[in-house]
Amino acid sequence: MDATPATVTTTKVTAIPGDGIGPEVMRATQQVLAAAGARLEWEDALAGAEAFRKGIVSGAPQETLDSIARNGVALKGPLETPVGYGEKSANVTLRKIFEMYGNIRPVREIPGLRTPFSGRGIDFVVVRENVEDVYAGVEHMQTPGVAQTLKLITEVGCERIVRLAAALAVAEGRRKVTVSTKANIMKLTEGMMKRVGEQVLKDYPQLAHEHMIVDNCAHQMVIRPEQFDVAVMTNMNGDILSDLAAGLVGGLGVAPSANLGDQVAMFEAVHGSAPQIAGKGLANPTALLLSAVMMLRHIGDFATAAKVEHALYVTLEEGVDLTGDIAAPGQGVSTWAFADRVVANLGRESAKVPAREYRPLEMKRWPAITWYRAATTRELVGVDVFVESERDPRAIGITLQAAAEGSAFTLEMISSRGAQVWPDLGGNTFLVDHFRARFMFKEAPKGNGIAEITDLLQRIGRQHNWMHIEKLQRFDGADAFSRA
Ligand code: NAD
Repeated sequence: MDATPATVTTTKVTAIPGDGIGPEVMRATQQVLAAAGARLEWEDALAGAEAFRKGIVSGAPQETLDSIARNGVALKGPLETPVGYGEKSANVTLRKIFEMYGNIRPVREIPGLRTPFSGRGIDFVVVRENVEDVYAGVEHMQTPGVAQTLKLITEVGCERIVRLAAALAVAEGRRKVTVSTKANIMKLTEGMMKRVGEQVLKDYPQLAHEHMIVDNCAHQMVIRPEQFDVAVMTNMNGDILSDLAAGLVGGLGVAPSANLGDQVAMFEAVHGSAPQIAGKGLANPTALLLSAVMMLRHIGDFATAAKVEHALYVTLEEGVDLTGDIAAPGQGVSTWAFADRVVANLGRESAKVPAREYRPLEMKRWPAITWYRAATTRELVGVDVFVESERDPRAIGITLQAAAEGSAFTLEMISSRGAQVWPDLGGNTFLVDHFRARFMFKEAPKGNGIAEITDLLQRIGRQHNWMHIEKLQRFDGADAFSRA
């Protein structure tokens, strides 16, 4: 049962029609919402291809950013990055500027859409961390043939997204949160999500909690998708698995999404601008309409959300007046005829809409401060030096040992792409010109260790080209680095 407060006030929403089919699906969605009696006032804003063509390098003019900041809620069509206008995506700009750290992707069987999984009762939500991980895009060529990207995972980033996943589970009356990670391999980064998940979910005793290795999670989503309720993941895992999950229930064309931050929530269809069919009245507005349903719940208008959702489901179930992408061959109608049918069905109820008791999403507000995590003890125990070399590991070992002679360090080992190659363990690791040499302090440095490290780098630099270093530290007595 959905409950709406007696006094429903009008909410101002920034509407970004976007590119391609965006304006068409936006108009159809707005038509249905108006007919359903949603108390919304739209503020139209520009972003995407037209903004780029006007020379706005971010793809979103200041007026658009101001409108979103003022209203705190936006409904957005797909945005294109036109060729020849740089590589910045207006979508990423908006996500980053407003720190929309939570990407919410509901995955639910859609009536009338036959898929190999129809009838299985799929109904879960993928919660994807949206701003960290390898998507920070901090990349360097280490040698002309070896590239590196930084996978940055923060404790606070993990806590924010797990708390959001738990809050969402509570708001939607769901029972279980699955934290899915690759913690078995990446013990520090992915492991942080696992550990934080275990910690944070203790605060939600009403929710069951499980951890699932992400590759098995992909497998389980295909084998037994109905077992999932809320699944939370780091950015790249969530990116891939949320698309996989959308594929289970009919594809990206009908998948809605929300991007949530502390100040701003932006709702959008997962699909793109479909340029091939743009302007022809062929686009299916289902995904944007379902995104708008999420938006209505976000602003607390549960009754209108349910009304629109039911009318849409009745329309899809009955299969009369569907757009060409989902209609029987030759039976497709226009975007407008479909929207008219949904409007005509307002007030009717579908048994296919899961009975759910929605409550307002209680999101923790994070203070606007630089987040800092102290450690009681810190020790500097060594340094990893990354060198480019075409020599074999034995020769490199001899030269690096010689370089370290008389320094504050001893050479502990050399690895190639994470596998130890010196001292030789007898394996047959394929070698490239990129080695990590691990030097440990012979005894704890008196000061901050920088003079000793600088001395070591100068010694190494006489024979080798080194490209970066990592300090090896221990925080609160625990190694803050992985073993080879
Ligand atoms: P797309 O989603 O636009 O199209 C993929 C296929 O699905 C096409 O066949 C298309 O006709 C169909 N399709 C998509 N939405 C539909 C709808 N509502 N009704 C009927 N058919 C629909 O993906 P693409 O072709 O890879 O991308 C096109 C453009 O959109 C690119 O410029 C891309 O960068 C952009 N894009 C933007 C977003 C976003 O703004 N969030 C997301 C994805 C792609």
